[in-house]
Amino acid sequence: MASLYRKIMFNNHTINRFKELETPFYYYDLGILNKTLSACKESSSKYGYHVHYAMKANFNQRVLNAIQSFGFGADCVSGNEVKAALEHGFEKENIVFAGVGKSDKEINLALDADIFCFNAESVQELMVINDLAKAKNKIANIAIRINPNVDAHTHHFITTGLDENKFGINTWQLDAVVEALHHCANLQFLGIHFHIGSQIIDMEVYKNLCTRINEIQEWFTEKGFEVKILNVGGGLGVDYYNPDTNQISNFENYFKVFKQFLNVRADQEVHFELGRALVAQCSSLVARVLYVKNGIKKNFLVLDAGMTELIRPMLYQAYHQIENISRKSEYDEQISVGIDTIQYDIVGPICESTDCFRKDVEMPTSFRGDLIAIRTTGAYGEVMASSYNLRDRVGSVYSN
Ligand SMILES: *Cc1c(COP(=O)(O)O)cnc(C)c1O
Repeated sequence: MASLYRKIMFNNHTINRFKELETPFYYYDLGILNKTLSACKESSSKYGYHVHYAMKANFNQRVLNAIQSFGFGADCVSGNEVKAALEHGFEKENIVFAGVGKSDKEINLALDADIFCFNAESVQELMVINDLAKAKNKIANIAIRINPNVDAHTHHFITTGLDENKFGINTWQLDAVVEALHHCANLQFLGIHFHIGSQIIDMEVYKNLCTRINEIQEWFTEKGFEVKILNVGGGLGVDYYNPDTNQISNFENYFKVFKQFLNVRADQEVHFELGRALVAQCSSLVARVLYVKNGIKKNFLVLDAGMTELIRPMLYQAYHQIENISRKSEYDEQISVGIDTIQYDIVGPICESTDCFRKDVEMPTSFRGDLIAIRTTGAYGEVMASSYNLRDRVGSVYSN
């Protein structure tokens, strides 16, 4: 029997509109985006927290404009992201630049733009930023990205804060950092930065992070450094299994954990870098069924979208809810009893065996031309699209 699901993102009007459109495309519900941004703003403002949006999650223009209009800062991981943030009206005082491999060209671009802070990820990088700043006769603000060795309890492909990960500076290297900072006259130490992974739903993880940050900031203070900024990164997860009934992440609880467990002096600022939690639920990838292949062992729905449009399932074994929105009238609200359903492997057209969104998905009997929605694709979806197989660039459609 089919499970019940409520059509919150797609009403009849929206589905009729889709029928006229070329697929595949990312559908953006800007109402959901605004509701999410507003919830985050409200909860973070309560404690005076600063939120930088992690731009790599989604740099669609309309999405960026909405986020900028709420007054969030930007967390960038490339020179082009810094440029895009400035072009979309983010204040330079609200732009931070992280990344394990910043090139000289990118560092120079950020120095010229006078961004707020570099989150430096190695001792060698500190030296390079210092040299490049010196050549421009500038002082670069620095936060040290530290790998706190806290397990994010998320998928091992998206954990970043363990000793074995490439990100950040390990705590046993902090003496060398302090030594470097003493010698780098063109660096201004502002604080410490952490980002331990993504899709974190267990608040205990953040509590553990707070404990580690408290120890580490104590260490810096003892060494005579004033820690002005505590940047705790992002990673808050979303509910991929219940995109309609659990549309907005629990920002209240999330920020409250830091309020409770992070030691913050009155003159310190706490910074966050949220990506996924702000944008994931506002978008679905909409595709059409090209072919239905019924086999002996397997039934396949071959879509006109594949790993070139959404690679998360193939790259991270990520789960996405998949719905046949053309069968809505037979498969809606309470009337799910007595509908024929079949298990399908939902696959794309790309010439790779891994080009499969999900296996054994229970769906109403589906036909060529049906519209399929892959839910919760606002984060790390459109931004990872590629032109492999010389595919067209995936389009975007907006609710208004
Ligand atoms: C990707 C990234 C983030 C955002 O991660 P989400 O899981 O999308 O919240 C924050 N900070 C840094 C440094 C990142 O690389």
